[in-house]
Amino acid sequence: MAFTYNCKRCGTVSRPYFFHAGAEGHGARHRRRRHGDDYPVGEHIRRIAWVNPVTRAAGWRPSRGDAVAAAVAGLLVLWSVWHAFTN
Ligand SMILES: [Zn+2]
Repeated sequence: MAFTYNCKRCGTVSRPYFFHAGAEGHGARHRRRRHGDDYPVGEHIRRIAWVNPVTRAAGWRPSRGDAVAAAVAGLLVLWSVWHAFTN
């Protein structure tokens, strides 16, 4: 079993939490950041089947931001290798 925080007002579903309190904590942070500590109508904690992290990772696809970050990291590695051998 796992729990997610769901905010109907902005259509947000949190990542799964193993404990109910984790999803509640997510909800508290969401309310503070997005709704000025107000309680959005229709927000709720939902009980879902636990998704194995390995299974979830298999469905992961890199976004454009991930690709840019990987390219920058790759260039940084190339630069540091080049720097190590030329100085
Ligand atoms: Zn919200």
